[in-house]
This record gives sequence, structure tokens and C-alpha cells, in this order.
Amino acid sequence: MTNFPRAAVIGNPISHSLSPKLHNYWLQRYGISGQYEALDVSKDMLEATIRALPAQGFIGANVTIPHKVSVMKLAHHVTDRATLIGAANTLIFKNDGRVFADNTDGYGFMANMRQGAPGWDPKSGPAAIFGAGGAARAIIVALADVGVPEIRLANRTRLKAEALKAEFGARIRVFDWVQAGSMLDGATTVINTTSLGMKGAQEFKVSLAELSPDAVVTDIVYNPLRTQFLEAAAAKGCQTVDGLGMLLHQGVPGFERWFGTRPEVDEDTRRAVLS
Ligand code: NAP
Repeated sequence: MTNFPRAAVIGNPISHSLSPKLHNYWLQRYGISGQYEALDVSKDMLEATIRALPAQGFIGANVTIPHKVSVMKLAHHVTDRATLIGAANTLIFKNDGRVFADNTDGYGFMANMRQGAPGWDPKSGPAAIFGAGGAARAIIVALADVGVPEIRLANRTRLKAEALKAEFGARIRVFDWVQAGSMLDGATTVINTTSLGMKGAQEFKVSLAELSPDAVVTDIVYNPLRTQFLEAAAAKGCQTVDGLGMLLHQGVPGFERWFGTRPEVDEDTRRAVLS
């Protein structure tokens, strides 16, 4: 066993994860002796791994695809927001072996928007969300929490958007995917949560005819950093926020709980993670 605290990101596959760069940069920046590792863990090894980690000096972990939902069952305590979202991305291991699970994706989203678009007010008008996957769930919970008046939702598989409406209530209006551009009319916050536009995936193409230049637009895809969707919104005069900050900010609460220092997300952090 090591004599310094360890944390990790658990996923499968995991080699693409930027979390080790992020947390090891923060450890170095704040002079904390600790280590953050990437652990490639298959579904059938998840429980055994989680149970074994505390005895090996691990004080916590991030969890990513495909374990964000299944890890909930392995935790002894799950925060309300993780329960609402139905997934966890941050684990804290207690000395007695108990596992606490939280979800910080919604926090990361909000912190990124506030930092990237100072003056952004989610309450100022409807939010239009493309996509109804795991990330959309976290963002819906966060937006509902801060009192966004209406959430417009369009997803390729409409049933999934309808299911979110059934779960999260009347504030959600579902739009048809083929007419998704129509939900931009009057929207003040616009978010792509689909994986479209990601390197290697199809481009995200939607009509921006109804997009107001006053809207703040974000794409949670961060590879590439400037997606075509963001560029098109910027060309219409909108303030745009890239998705890297969401990833960086979602790491803040975990790092603080594990290592006792609240880390900064700033240009140096972005540079370190992108290097
Ligand atoms: P997910 O649960 O698998 O959801 C994927 C979403 O993309 C669904 O709405 C899906 O629609 C849609 N989609 C996929 N292929 C599509 C296509 N060809 N046409 C139309 N829609 C399509 O994934 P997730 O966890 O929500 O993540 C979504 C994206 O966000 C990923 O690119 C991920 O890397 C990124 N992300 C970024 C952050 C960050 O910190 N910046 C955090 C989380 C996720 P269907 O329901 O119809 O399949």
C-alpha cells in the first residue's frame, strides 16, 4: 500500500479520459502528494474493484462510461442529486469501507456556463436541449434547480425525451427531432448534449434560423473544442461556451473532497489538460 492518497477514474475503455491529466495537474499545482490513475474495469469486475480499492489506499474515484448507472447499486449512500439523475460520477471511500456516490455533471455544466458566459441568466427564458441521454439528465436537473422557466427537449429517439418529461415534469416541452430547430425560437440558453459533432461522429446539423443572437449557446462535446455547431452559433452573434470547462469543473468537488483543496479551473488548467 502507498503512503499517499490515491484516486482514479474507472471506465471501459478509459485511455481517452482526460481526468488523469486534470487531477495530476492539480496535485502538482497545489503541491499535494497524491496520485490519480486511470483504471480500465470491465462490467463484471466493477463490484470487486470498488470493494478492493479502499484497502489499496484509494480515497475516491470518478466513474465514467459504462459504469455511471450500475455503480449506484454498489454505494452505501447516494446523494439526492445523483438519485434524481439516476447516475453517479464521483465516489468517496470512507475509512470504514463505505462508499458515497454523487453526481457532479450538473454542477460542472452550471459552473462552466457561469465562467464562460458571465451575465448568463438561466431564468431569463426557455432552455433548448438537443439530446436526452445521461448528460442531458444531469443538465435538466441542474437547470430545473436554478429555476429555468421552460425546458425544450428534442431527441432522435423521441420516446426518451417523453420519458424525461414524464419524470421531470411539466416544465419540459418535447419537440420533434426533425423540427428541432423550431425550439430555438425565444430560447435564451441552447445546449447540444448529443454526441453529434464529436471527432469521428456525424456533424450536428440543425437549422439556426430561429436562433436569437442574445442566446447563450454551449456544446458539451469538447473534441473538437470548437464544434461546427458552436461556430455557426457564434456566426449568428451568440455568446458560445465550449464543453471542456464542464469536464474540468465536474472534477472540482471530487478533488476537494479527496485532497482537501478546492482547485481552480482557469486558462492554466485548460492548457495543462489540452497539452
Ligand atoms: P448518451 O447517454 O449515450 O446519449 C447520447 C445522446 O446522443 C442521445 O440523446 C442520442 O440520441 C444522441 N445521439 C447519438 N447519436 C446520434 C445521431 N446519429 N443522431 C442524433 N442523435 C444522436 O451519452 P451522454 O453521456 O449523454 O454523452 C453525450 C455526449 O456528451 C458525448 O459526446 C459525451 O462525450 C459528452 N459529454 C460531455 C461532458 C462534458 O463534461 N463536457 C459530460 C458528459 C458527456 P438517441 O437517444 O436517439 O440515441
